[in-house]
Amino acid sequence: MVTLGIDIGSAATKAVILEDGTRVAGEAKVNMGTGTSGIQKTLDLLLEEHGLSMEDFDYIVATGYGRKWFKQADREMSELSCHARGVAHCVPDARTVIDIGGQDAKTIRLGKNGRMSNFVMNDKCAAGTGRFLEVMANILETSVDRMGALDELATQELQISATCTVFAESEVISQLSRGKCREDIVRAIHESVAKRVASMAKRAGIEDKVVMTGGVAQNPGIVRALSRELNRDVQVPEEPQMMGALGAALFAYEEAVSGKKAE
Ligand code: ADP
Repeated sequence: MVTLGIDIGSAATKAVILEDGTRVAGEAKVNMGTGTSGIQKTLDLLLEEHGLSMEDFDYIVATGYGRKWFKQADREMSELSCHARGVAHCVPDARTVIDIGGQDAKTIRLGKNGRMSNFVMNDKCAAGTGRFLEVMANILETSVDRMGALDELATQELQISATCTVFAESEVISQLSRGKCREDIVRAIHESVAKRVASMAKRAGIEDKVVMTGGVAQNPGIVRALSRELNRDVQVPEEPQMMGALGAALFAYEEAVSGKKAE
């Protein structure tokens, strides 16, 4: 049984192929999201590499912000359920999932059965999301994948107090013009994101084990800041950005097994 989970996000498209519901038979990621050619590019990469065509899939589940526009799926499911499912598969004793993606951040509470029991989401404001970090990386003439290493070299505590991306941008520019070093500014940016996300997570209620997912979880500076802010360990699965696609592929397997595929 071959199933596909595709997570069409605001910033990236992620896809996972499962064979018989457990073994990852292939995966692909392209840093282009909904409304772009990223969806086709991800599929092309995946199919070419594994010598498959769309007809080879027994069931396809689409998730993510752009799922409604993906007409080849047998079913669409919310990214909350798919993230919960993916994390429960990789970290069975996870009880709190903190996901930071391109344009939103969410906290998902999991019950002992691994199903979502509650969630809190911020999708109204760019601060505290991957987009915020991209804007900041741009001003600092670096990239999001290098921010974790810069953060590690910080020596001086700085404050970025603005809660809005535009004002935070001016604060960063003013820190730079005062001669403050990039490493310290990056650490302050991470602290400001972590504060925001932690206050949202506290509203959902936090229970160990806490797991962080989404593209931003690849930034160890954010993970460390969040761990300090929450005063507890924050675990990151091996491929945090793929959790939604993995969850979708697992749901696709369950649907395929229960014979729900429309003929
Ligand atoms: P979405 O589902 O909304 O597309 P993702 O969970 O895929 O979001 O995360 C996308 C975000 O992850 C980007 O906005 C970017 O800030 C961040 N990101 C992507 N790759 C990396 C990386 N290598 N290191 C740090 N952050 C990253």
